[in-house]
Amino acid sequence: MNNNCQIKKLYSEFPLLLDLESQKYVFWINRKLQQQKVTSKQVSMKDVEEAAARLARFSSYLKVAFPETAISNGIIESNIKEISNMKKLIEGRRAIRIPGRLLLKCDHALPISGSIKARGGIYEVLKHAETLAIQHGMLSMRDDYSILNEKRFKELFSQYKITVGSTGNLGLSIGIISAKLGFQVTVHMSADAKQWKKDLLRSQGVEVIEYEEDYSVAVANGRKEAEGDSTCHFIDDENSKDLFVGYAVAALRLQEQLTTNKIKVDAKHPLFVYLPCGVGGGPGGVAFGLKQIFGPNVHIFFGEPMQSPCMLLGMMTGLHDEIAVSDIGLTNETEADGLAVGRPSKFVGTLMEPMLSGCYTVDDSFLFRSLKAMYEQENIFMEPSAHAGVFGPIQLLCEGQQYIEEQGLQPYLQNAVHLVWSTGGNMVPEHLRQQYLQTEV
Ligand SMILES: *Cc1c(COP(=O)(O)O)cnc(C)c1O
Repeated sequence: MNNNCQIKKLYSEFPLLLDLESQKYVFWINRKLQQQKVTSKQVSMKDVEEAAARLARFSSYLKVAFPETAISNGIIESNIKEISNMKKLIEGRRAIRIPGRLLLKCDHALPISGSIKARGGIYEVLKHAETLAIQHGMLSMRDDYSILNEKRFKELFSQYKITVGSTGNLGLSIGIISAKLGFQVTVHMSADAKQWKKDLLRSQGVEVIEYEEDYSVAVANGRKEAEGDSTCHFIDDENSKDLFVGYAVAALRLQEQLTTNKIKVDAKHPLFVYLPCGVGGGPGGVAFGLKQIFGPNVHIFFGEPMQSPCMLLGMMTGLHDEIAVSDIGLTNETEADGLAVGRPSKFVGTLMEPMLSGCYTVDDSFLFRSLKAMYEQENIFMEPSAHAGVFGPIQLLCEGQQYIEEQGLQPYLQNAVHLVWSTGGNMVPEHLRQQYLQTEV
């Protein structure tokens, strides 16, 4: 989209575009949200359950290949944690009250790659490995998958290639798991990708190709590399159903954790979930799973950087991947490297249309203030991108009154749980943590 006339028409139809363009805080309520439970032709809960079963089959492999997963029996999962000190700090600083409880979903601490990408990314590579091993008659679904750690499997996988385009964390997850299994793996990294991520991957034998352009270009080149090569599997961050269902497994696990912690979710006990959003696959997968389980009792909001509100833009206008943040004059430049995406996934945006409650934007200076506060108050380090979730409850309470009223939630806010999804941080090296903590905003 770069036809001036079309853009002008959009501005008159969606006045919020002006606020996005002038970098005001935007809280957008999705008018296409449906109350009843919505299913999809493209993805079903059965797919998500199959993915959970596949991850369970792989647990014996992960336990031996990544000893750090032994304590969780080879299951890649994170805790939920109440962050009361952070809650008090926010209430004090903002002079607001956050009714209900404030919890953190600790995906920054996921084993193997320390970000939400350890869900979808690792899942898709494992599924691909399973398919190949079964095709070659070397594996059956009833086997103990720890045999995949044997040399003969590495020899098999070394004849195959995996490629991906990424702003960093997806590349990290795909690179680490693919190299461990024995695949030849190439990661196409956008200009935003941090140097340490490239260094770490190269140290594990991953080929890293660097670009001076943004995410979309890195992805397009990954896709091109795989074209016409039947031995090469392209992990498509914009369109992959496997990635998506890998992320969605988180919903089944969260349901269990809520039950264990005696946290009710029903019409009188609303659950609000705030997820940082880049291209959409990670937060979209989680949102899909949660909506399938909790229906109208879960309210999901995506947070995006002011310079990269691609999902908000695509969903609000209904144009999805036919519009980019540059079309409204935004740069897609942000310190939230994991969210530096200018054009959203159409696959995810369309799926989210009847499910997502809304989106909001957040500026980089909030991300750094939150990073410091979370470290000081809760002793938790999360990378800048992950703090886009923290802004969610603040914006809902300050700007989202209309949503609360329309949904009839006011009487039940006391019983609410606000779950901030922390999407990354554990792999960030110490020197960079110090740098982030000292960033003046
Ligand atoms: C990738 C990423 C996200 C967003 O996931 P998308 O699938 O790109 O929407 C959020 N936070 C972090 C830290 C990430 O790396």
